Amino acid sequence: MESYFLVVFVVFTLVFWLFLKHLYTNRYRKFIESFLNSSNSINILYSKDNITFINRIGLDFFCFNSVAEFNKRYANLSQLFLSDTDCVAKHTYGRKWLEKLKSSNGKPFKVKLFSKRDKMSYYFNINISKIKETNQYLLSFNDITKLESEKLSITKQAEYDALTKVYNRVKFNEVLNDVIYRANRYDYRFSIILLDIDHFKTINDTYGHSVGDSVLIELSRLIKMDLESSDTFARWGGEEFVIITKTTENRKGTLLALKLQRLVSEYNKFTKVGRVTCSFGVTEFKIGDTQSLLFERVDKALYEAKHNGRNQVVEK
Ligand code: GH3
Ligand code: MG
Ligand code: MG
Repeated sequence: MESYFLVVFVVFTLVFWLFLKHLYTNRYRKFIESFLNSSNSINILYSKDNITFINRIGLDFFCFNSVAEFNKRYANLSQLFLSDTDCVAKHTYGRKWLEKLKSSNGKPFKVKLFSKRDKMSYYFNINISKIKETNQYLLSFNDITKLESEKLSITKQAEYDALTKVYNRVKFNEVLNDVIYRANRYDYRFSIILLDIDHFKTINDTYGHSVGDSVLIELSRLIKMDLESSDTFARWGGEEFVIITKTTENRKGTLLALKLQRLVSEYNKFTKVGRVTCSFGVTEFKIGDTQSLLFERVDKALYEAKHNGRNQVVEK
């Protein structure tokens, strides 16, 4: 009889304990969920490769009505990660992305997400933390879109010429260094074209500095349109521009310069001025060349083009 009461007592205690635990867990979960719903950023509770909760901001961002709807559409959250510079994308870690995030130790885990709500992309840093006494993780998405666009505009200012919006000399030197490195080690050939507007001082003196500026803008647009995406085009300074072009065959650099020389001299719609011509110097990279050796040759070529009467191409 005594043992019977003992069993009943143990079972009762166990059931009661389970009931209390359930009550506590439920309350705890509800408290966390209402806390996350009051947040201004996207918060997701994640457990065993499954989303168990998304706060209101999150559901609104992805245009879903419920977590169930979200889970049905996306088996894994990483499916939403878009590719971009420095971003963790869909295939960066595959299904192991959560493991990577767990071991990131606070290092930035940047992702790009598309919002169906306003059809725009946003950048986020994801932070992860384990929820005590559960097997759940809290993923907080910290919106860094504004910061990213500021960073991009600073980079643009540092790399682009303010007037013509083509690369500046600093960026050009960086690209050239890289190209010389590749050309010295691998089978990579390239040419440099240096071009200078003829009698530009006269244009400024005759029509004014702002017309001179328009000519610089129009000329860079004209040339840029005729280049390939693999070519590097930069303003070297003043009314001088420089191009790096991959040379897959002999004299390809010179042929490109001749094409550009004709293009510019035949164009007759420069604001107020009408026609403008340019002189071109061209040189092809030779093994062992440094930046200064390349520029010594291309400068000489351009000097000769000027000396010989302008509006022409000289190769050295
Ligand atoms: P050449 O045919 O020998 O090249 O003669 P040039 O007159 O083009 O060359 P020069 O070096 O004598 O003059 C270049 C002029 O370019 C002088 C300078 O005031 C002008 N210049 C440099 N940068 C700018 C700019 O950003 N805007 C304008 N409008 N003019 C500029
Ligand atoms: Mg000049
Ligand atoms: Mg000039």
